[in-house]
Amino acid sequence: VFSSDNVPQAPEDPLFGLMAAYRKDTFEKKVDLGIGAYRDDNAKPWVLPVVKKAEGILQKDPNLNHEYLPIAGLAEFTSAAQKLMLGAESPAIKEKRVASFQTISGTGAVHLGGLFLSKFYLRPNDQPIYFSSPTWANHNQIFSNVNLPIKTYPYFSPQTKGLDYDGMRAAVESAPEGSIILLHACAHNPTGVDLTHAQWADIAKVIRAKSHFPFFDCAYQGFASGDLEHDAWAVRYFVEQGFELCIAQSFAKNFGLYGERAGAFHFVTGPGPDAQNTIGRIASQLAILQRSEISNPPAYGARIASLVLNDRELFQEWEENLRTMSGRIIDMRKALRGKLEELNGKEGSWKHITEQIGMFSFTGLSEKQVLKIREDAHIYMTKNGRISMAGANTGNVEYIAQAMDKVVR
Ligand code: PMP
Repeated sequence: VFSSDNVPQAPEDPLFGLMAAYRKDTFEKKVDLGIGAYRDDNAKPWVLPVVKKAEGILQKDPNLNHEYLPIAGLAEFTSAAQKLMLGAESPAIKEKRVASFQTISGTGAVHLGGLFLSKFYLRPNDQPIYFSSPTWANHNQIFSNVNLPIKTYPYFSPQTKGLDYDGMRAAVESAPEGSIILLHACAHNPTGVDLTHAQWADIAKVIRAKSHFPFFDCAYQGFASGDLEHDAWAVRYFVEQGFELCIAQSFAKNFGLYGERAGAFHFVTGPGPDAQNTIGRIASQLAILQRSEISNPPAYGARIASLVLNDRELFQEWEENLRTMSGRIIDMRKALRGKLEELNGKEGSWKHITEQIGMFSFTGLSEKQVLKIREDAHIYMTKNGRISMAGANTGNVEYIAQAMDKVVR
């Protein structure tokens, strides 16, 4: 029987709660460093010029209608998304051993992957899925919802404010054979700390030796470094090494299509004579899961991304837009670090801000300091000391630096 007494009040989503508090604040110089969405130098959302152009093309298309997409989504979109992620020359694409489904942005892709693994991944010893500590908060919820047991591997070193590679490696090595290892492809959220190519190659060896299954979450391709190839390096390396793996791909950040929910899930099987059969069976099961969850994905964002991805000129313009976004963020990292070190006179004391990459910086501020900054300066960031660099601009970076400097003294 249903008893409403049996439904406890759930805590508010911390990030969306923070957004609401920011909106309510009437202080003139308030700053939002919470949500992970790009802002221009005037702190305004930015519709990419190439996206505007694609929208214009769509609006003029006389054949456009609002019919359902196929279960797997818009084929031109998923095939272009596949090439973007794996590289047009990828052996996996050539050998037709990739199954790709359009999803409800990156979140939907992580979920579809989680659901698929919860049904079909054999875990005779109750092998868990391992996340980095910390990770994107939603990973916990998504994989718990599909009943996969969760464990974490060390990732961030509070001492160096960089990667704890030794800790990560040791944990992956001692994980029970055949565990699922979740990896951020680039621009790790929340820390902004990534593995070097040598570390990726090394962790791949450990994952292979332990027969673990890599699950890549890629939410920032092109947005991190401004270079689409560079940001996809780790995924492509694992595919080249012949791994069987899956990838959740989001187009929220790199196209600025947050609310349109454009994303893709890719499953890559290993090479072999039977690979095409295998991928056919996997795709057939993914189709059933997709059908029961969302029937078919939303069309608008995928149409825009597809137009851009499949047109040489628009694609180049997109790359230009990506460089604008990532370039502004990198400039803000330099400016924030520069001002902070100017204030305390200690060169290198905030070097982690420029060493980290992508949307976020893990500042090392404590929860107490974060709350103090919110109270005194009306600057909003998550309690773990993560700041969205996109919230900084030439007009407020000095103000942010002063407030941060003040609480760490
Ligand atoms: N994974 C990570 C690590 C993320 O940071 C995000 C965006 N916050 C996502 C997945 C998915 O976001 P979306 O559903 O908006 O594409």
